[in-house]
Amino acid sequence: MDLPDDLVLPLQRGAPWWYWSGGRPALNFVNTLRERWRRQVETLVTDEDLAAWLVAAQLLAEAPPVPAGLLERARELREGINAGLVAVIDGEPVPEAARAVITREMRHAAVPDELIRDAVGALAVRPVTPLEPAEYGLGLVAHDAARMFTPAEAGRIRVCASDTCSGRFFDRSPAAVRRYCSPTACGNVEKARRHRRRRREQEQTS
Ligand SMILES: [Zn+2]
Repeated sequence: MDLPDDLVLPLQRGAPWWYWSGGRPALNFVNTLRERWRRQVETLVTDEDLAAWLVAAQLLAEAPPVPAGLLERARELREGINAGLVAVIDGEPVPEAARAVITREMRHAAVPDELIRDAVGALAVRPVTPLEPAEYGLGLVAHDAARMFTPAEAGRIRVCASDTCSGRFFDRSPAAVRRYCSPTACGNVEKARRHRRRRREQEQTS
């Protein structure tokens, strides 16, 4: 997915530029640093961005308070996941630093269950409300990344094949042959680009 060329950088707020082609929380999160091949556009600009992203990603029901330092930890986790996926795609092991940051953050995803009485008096088992919901939400992202790097799933991590995208996505196609983060956006842009390139080559040789 491409960004406009005339974007004023750095962004003041990231929310208008989020996209959701990653196919899972860990990769949608990595994609909050956009255009990694060129301008490195940061879309987790403020604490409010992080809170709003966790809601938009459907990890939390409402925007949480963001404790001091969590935005930096979030970006560190994001770049750890990215380092891991770049290594996996190159056929290398996930770097130790990436494993360490993922396991540090995923601990916060573990909350005990409680037995509650719902509005009509029926009993229900559900996770307790976490004390630091923002940290919990980030923990869910880390937990998803941890699962993604296990051998059963790691082979489906992809970087979009469009020259101008760099979006990361999880390939759930049955034959594991998907090439673009968005077949309609990036796939069509790339097809048109190839077509123009071929026409230019034909014109030069004729
Ligand atoms: Zn793409």
